[in-house]
Amino acid sequence: MLNYNDLPSPSYVCDLSRLETNLKILERVKERSGVKIILALKGFAMWSTFDLVSRYLDGATASGLHEATLAKEYMRGEVHTYAPAFKAEEIVEIAKISDHMVFNTPSQLKLFAQEVKRVNPKVSLSLRVNPEFSSSPVDLYKPCGIYSRLGTTLENFDETVLKLVDGLNFHALCEQNVDALEGVLYAFEEKFGKYIEGLKYVNFGGGHHITREDYDVESLIRVIKEFRSRHNNIEVYLEPGEAVGWQTGELVSTVLDVMHNGMDIAILDTSAEAHMPDTLAMPYRAEVRGSGVAGSKPYTYRLGGNTCLAGDIMGDYAFDQPLKVGDKVIFEDQIHYTFVKNTTFNGIKLPSLVLVHQNGAVEVVKDFGYEDYKMRLS
Ligand SMILES: *Cc1c(COP(=O)(O)O)cnc(C)c1O
Repeated sequence: MLNYNDLPSPSYVCDLSRLETNLKILERVKERSGVKIILALKGFAMWSTFDLVSRYLDGATASGLHEATLAKEYMRGEVHTYAPAFKAEEIVEIAKISDHMVFNTPSQLKLFAQEVKRVNPKVSLSLRVNPEFSSSPVDLYKPCGIYSRLGTTLENFDETVLKLVDGLNFHALCEQNVDALEGVLYAFEEKFGKYIEGLKYVNFGGGHHITREDYDVESLIRVIKEFRSRHNNIEVYLEPGEAVGWQTGELVSTVLDVMHNGMDIAILDTSAEAHMPDTLAMPYRAEVRGSGVAGSKPYTYRLGGNTCLAGDIMGDYAFDQPLKVGDKVIFEDQIHYTFVKNTTFNGIKLPSLVLVHQNGAVEVVKDFGYEDYKMRLS
């Protein structure tokens, strides 16, 4: 049994067995549908796990030079790189290490296609289109919402780019099930279907919550197979981030103090703002082990972070026993979209990164300190 008191606090604890369970689900989708699946580094970039991830997935998708470099360094398989806009001073380096480059607009594609092909003739070029279909509930995570800058709409599509590209990409979903993908595919084929025949692949982006318990994996397999058979067995890519890191570990924190101001408040050695940013941005309520909603158990506390930001609050949680200084508070499912977004705001220490190996061995793979704060300032 993992003893959280033996770990540095705060720390993110990634369980490789649970990660492998997710990867096996994705592997089954690959085998049954013929789809290629690559990891979106944006959501999960714990490179100490990439040896394991590479055994199951076909590569990684990067949003620019730094993620592409990380993919090249630590993942096997393909490197796909997309950016809302590429910069001239980075394009050569990105072209050297990418297998696919995905452009956001015809203007960017035309600006860089020749240079990219000169540097690396094997790079496959693609254009990200915007199917203008979106059912994501949160504006912050709605890639095809009104006035979206992500991808080219049919109105702005330029058929002369077709001679430059091997494929088309879209990314329209966020934490969604197959029914949402079917809606997007319908819109995509209605708008861009006439261009698919000459293509080698279509990339369905991310936001597929494939490893969530209620995800309809069988329907996903069917939808991919049907799409491929409608289009001459075309190659299809999925690039999930969240579904890879979903439910693979927790953020372990410690109660530093308990106080009262109209209600009981516990101050933790972590931060919602700096270490669990989606709790404020999404916003959503992270699960805390052993707790319930406020009032559902005898002792309710507001859990707050150790920064001076008034709104650095995880939420209100009820416990069976009073919280004491030194108690561990464990936030569930804090591996995706957490440490990839962390900041050193207010100088608060970044949580350590911990792996639990399949044999139960616990490894602290990274501790952070003052240097990580100072390095980003001058
Ligand atoms: C964010 C993103 C993904 C991954 O999305 P998840 O919701 O983490 O699966 C994939 N592709 C693109 C282009 C993205 O921006």
